[in-house]
Amino acid sequence: MTSHIARAQVLEPRPARLVTTPAALASVLADAAHFPDGHTSALALPTDIAEVAWVLQNHATVLPIGSQTSLTGGATPRGEVVMALRELRGIDQISSDRWRVGAGVTLAEFQAHLARNDAFFPPVPAYAGAQIGGAASTNAAGPATFKYGSTRRWIEGLTVVLADGAMLELERGQCRAHPDGYFELARPGGGRRVPIPAYHLPQVAKVSAGYYAAPEMDLIDLFLGSEGTLGVITHVVARVVSPAPRIVLMLVTCPDEATALDLTRSLRLEAQQAWRGLASRPDISAIEYLDGPSLDLLRLGAAESVLPEAARAALIIQRELTGPAADAQAAGCLAASLRDARAEIVLAALPGDVVTARRILDLRAGVPLAVNEIIGRAQRDVDAHISKVAADMIVPFDRLADMVHLFREEFERLGLPHAVWGHISDGNLHPNAIPRSLAEADAGQAAILRLGRIVTAMGGSPLAEHGVGRNPTKQALLRQLYGDAGIEQMRAVKTALDPVARLAPGVMFPVV
Ligand SMILES: Cc1cc2nc3c(=O)[nH]c(=O)nc-3n(C[C@H](O)[C@H](O)[C@H](O)COP(=O)(O)OP(=O)(O)OC[C@H]3O[C@@H](n4cnc5c(N)ncnc54)[C@H](O)[C@@H]3O)c2cc1C
Repeated sequence: MTSHIARAQVLEPRPARLVTTPAALASVLADAAHFPDGHTSALALPTDIAEVAWVLQNHATVLPIGSQTSLTGGATPRGEVVMALRELRGIDQISSDRWRVGAGVTLAEFQAHLARNDAFFPPVPAYAGAQIGGAASTNAAGPATFKYGSTRRWIEGLTVVLADGAMLELERGQCRAHPDGYFELARPGGGRRVPIPAYHLPQVAKVSAGYYAAPEMDLIDLFLGSEGTLGVITHVVARVVSPAPRIVLMLVTCPDEATALDLTRSLRLEAQQAWRGLASRPDISAIEYLDGPSLDLLRLGAAESVLPEAARAALIIQRELTGPAADAQAAGCLAASLRDARAEIVLAALPGDVVTARRILDLRAGVPLAVNEIIGRAQRDVDAHISKVAADMIVPFDRLADMVHLFREEFERLGLPHAVWGHISDGNLHPNAIPRSLAEADAGQAAILRLGRIVTAMGGSPLAEHGVGRNPTKQALLRQLYGDAGIEQMRAVKTALDPVARLAPGVMFPVV
């Protein structure tokens, strides 16, 4: 029966292993955002829920971490005890399409396990080394969000340990907000009312911008995307798809940006027809985009001779094949997917061709790596305070061309080297300026705030999938999106669930 009351269970806590050696601490001081000044006095390694509860009950501040692939600094400790969830393991099938998975299982491990059962978990981000607990905590999304949505859509249950060590077992559909906008948390020693924020989320394919809020929302959705600030996720119940589709991956180059955008638009329409049952249309689940400067970065490295000199944009197209005819379709599917004569398939991986598929995916991964390398050099040679200038923005698909032009115009106006890439089938791109000096880095951060304002006015979100974390620009974008009132509404949620700000303090918004 659905209720707005959630009942927390008190656990018998059990001491967890605490490590304080310099080498162990050094290994958890930074996440993939290379956020500066990480520090901690201890690393806790719980192996079960009772040990998670003990860590929380015995430390003033705690930062839960997964694989630290966060691109926001959210998994960088600022004095908190670090609680690594990697030893919370276990992958158990509970029904034909539901699996209970320990938070510490990586998405790659889960996917490999499912593959042996002819199933797969669709919303995996571009880097599968992330843990499922981390992906749930950031509501991560991936290239195939276009077809499958973000992590939220695939989580049916959560086990969460709250800041005081009490545990919630949540099943989707069981606990929904009261029509007046709150949950009731019942626990021994006194209940608590948890208000839900009144702001409206942008209506786009993915949003990882503060706490989820919607009338009569499910309590599970409050924890998904809460970036470790409301509770520690110890287990998820994930819904999966079976049978797993066979995948064709193509690298397609285009002479200009307009061709890439046109092709994306028409492939999206064809895919939507395929999902409605029109078997002659290609079932495209993901389209990734690399702009001209991104291709130039790849050409600088030894990486790819495959890119034609004239190419000024590229798409990575993922097509799914299912059913008994899949292998026969595979051979004929390439030309059918691509009728635009201006575009050229330069690499194609048919199902099972892992070598070519890896080559295509490495090329995509090579762009952010090249940007990081250039910024690392500028930090070393010019000024250690030069920061990365990157964003993760999304608009309704019909405003995509406007967003692409907006990014380019703004960076060109400021004379900033830049590159733009991302999950174009969702209307989600990552604009990156590549600063050569501290002044350029500051100008780039200011530009991101301006871009965020315009993207919001287009009906989009300046924070699409990576979350907010400790990044000051992303925290400013969050404030811009919901206003001071929205931040106060989030703070009220945090205070109701974690009154002493024990969990991930300073992540998403500052502690006052
Ligand atoms: C190369 C690369 C590609 C990426 N591609 C994508 C992409 O396509 N889409 C996308 O969405 N993201 C992407 N990311 C970002 C990152 O992978 C995701 O944010 C991921 O979900 C983080 O998982 P993690 O296990 O590494 O969590 P961490 O980075 O360790 O933590 C992230 C946040 O979640 C909290 N957290 C972690 N585990 C738990 C838990 N069990 N309980 C409570 N809180 C927890 C942490 O406190 C932190 O705030 C990419 C990152 C890299 C490096």
